[in-house]
Amino acid sequence: MALIVQKYGGTSVGTVERIQAVAQRVKATVEAGNSVVVVVSAMGKTTDGLVKLAADITSQPSRREMDMLLSTGEQVSIALLTMALHAQGQEAISLTGAQVGIVTEAEHTRARILKIKTDRLRRHLSEGKVIVVAGFQGISQTSDLEITTLGRGGSDTSAVALAAALGAEKCEIYTDVPGILTTDPRLVPEAQLMEEITSDEMLELASLGAKVLHPRAVEIARNYGVTLVVRSSWTDEPGTRVISPRPQPRPLEGLELAHPVDAVEFDTDQAKVALLRIPDRPGIAARLFGELATQALNVDLIIQSIHEGNTNDIAFTMVKANLAKAEAVAEAIGPALRSNPTDTTQAEVMVDQRMAKISIAGAGMIGRPGVAAKMFSSLAAAGINIQLISTSEVKVSCTIDVADCDRAIAVLCEAFDVTSSPVAQGDTPQAAPAPEVRGAALDIKQVRVAIRHVPDRPGMAAQIFQLLATHGVSVDMIIQSQRCRLVNGQATRDIAFTVAQADAQTAKAVVESAAAELGFGGVAVDEAIAKVSVVGTGMIYAPGVAARMFKALSEQGINLQMIATSEIKISCVVAETEGVAALRAVHNAFGLAGLKRTVVPA
Ligand code: ADP
Ligand code: ASP
Ligand code: MG
Repeated sequence: MALIVQKYGGTSVGTVERIQAVAQRVKATVEAGNSVVVVVSAMGKTTDGLVKLAADITSQPSRREMDMLLSTGEQVSIALLTMALHAQGQEAISLTGAQVGIVTEAEHTRARILKIKTDRLRRHLSEGKVIVVAGFQGISQTSDLEITTLGRGGSDTSAVALAAALGAEKCEIYTDVPGILTTDPRLVPEAQLMEEITSDEMLELASLGAKVLHPRAVEIARNYGVTLVVRSSWTDEPGTRVISPRPQPRPLEGLELAHPVDAVEFDTDQAKVALLRIPDRPGIAARLFGELATQALNVDLIIQSIHEGNTNDIAFTMVKANLAKAEAVAEAIGPALRSNPTDTTQAEVMVDQRMAKISIAGAGMIGRPGVAAKMFSSLAAAGINIQLISTSEVKVSCTIDVADCDRAIAVLCEAFDVTSSPVAQGDTPQAAPAPEVRGAALDIKQVRVAIRHVPDRPGMAAQIFQLLATHGVSVDMIIQSQRCRLVNGQATRDIAFTVAQADAQTAKAVVESAAAELGFGGVAVDEAIAKVSVVGTGMIYAPGVAARMFKALSEQGINLQMIATSEIKISCVVAETEGVAALRAVHNAFGLAGLKRTVVPA
């Protein structure tokens, strides 16, 4: 007899009829010979409604009381679904997170799961009962037994964590779309269903704004090798499989907290080309990377930070063997970008062969301020200066002097307590070869903070991001630019990062309060930004993916404000008003759009 965990989202339990339909599906699963644990969300838009009620009372509700309030939504749906099961003659019992023993840290409104007690669950299962568990909530380990919630969208995480703790055969996430689509069908109705996606790709997409799965759910599935499927609540179609490499064994204790970083990666066979002071207008990146792609030159990191005046810098890295050709491409393009070809205060090309790329990787760093800061401070403590920084949601990469590489590896392995790398990308069993681009996502809930003229010496990034972490601000994309500028005889660089809208004011205040002491120039906050991204494992081996993305955007006249890449994703920051147009353009450019429109129920 197999044990299956099924999770039903808000829309799927939004009305009495839908709850009855869920009960039918659960009962049918039992009749097919399975034991079933069901996790449900609050009905329809209940949680949004509760958030609004709180906002009507106060603009600064206590986080503890928010948990007390929001956790009620799920308590309604577990009771109703259990009654519906009883009415259909199926034995069942509802349990809150506390009754199960979903133990979390005491961080209200964003608690991580530490462990799940399974004795009561196993007892009821052995009695032949279906167990209906309230998603999204847990109980803290402190003596006061506080009710906690996992963060919006967290029921997915409850379900996958339960599946991991129980060693379930699979975890099925039932929702209002046919599965995971190439992008959000509410924004692009031509989005197409995927049969499968790797957990690495899904992790990036989920953290980049694809709401269909909570990123932490994907993280747990990947870490514990949970078989995860996303399916429609309205049909019997198979949906989308999220496939993971075989995981290294890990204890269930400290479930979501054990290891924020699972690998330190480095590459000393890289060289960097930087184009400095190029005009800040649409089409430049498209042209540069288009030309590199034409010559089949594959690039690795691409970094473009905030502009200065009306010019920008773009830096990219590639294997050393390609440096001469890449430099030639950049040199050929450089003069064409100057209004006066002999004026070298304008566009200029710089190359660097003495660099190494060093990265920390791990899904556990999502939403955990302090992981990037710890990397920067470990490097600083070893006297290692960071040249470029580019982050994705699950990776932080820095370029450093190649002479520092061995020391950097040693201090990072020690700081994060990692000795070996986990399974490589290519080990994920897939039915078909990974496409260059699997899907696209848009995130409009971010704000950009730019710090000008940060002194270029070890420890600056460490101090900034440590300070933010201490104030609980979780930083998303961090970019440290190429341009070195002399301010009062001191070399400086700009650092920009994005944070959630809710954290923008805190971030600004924290950075401004440190400006005088740390000696940097101004701090600017831009709320009107959007981040559009493409994700695909196949892009590692395919030159020209970045070029196609930049071209599609420039054809729409969309200017790129920042660019950051990791091995399997490219993200561009654009003006918020252009976000949806940018997503559509990119989705089309990679042939992801189909003829069929995906219907999303209200
Ligand atoms: P549930 O209540 O079932 O958890 P959510 O609203 O949290 O449902 O997530 C499902 C929604 O995610 C879909 O209705 C869709 O609008 C949105 N979405 C965003 N990106 C994607 C994507 N790549 N694939 C499918 N759905 C997506
Ligand atoms: N009800 C919670 C929310 O709306 C949790 C979830 O649906 O996953 O965020
Ligand atoms: Mg959801």
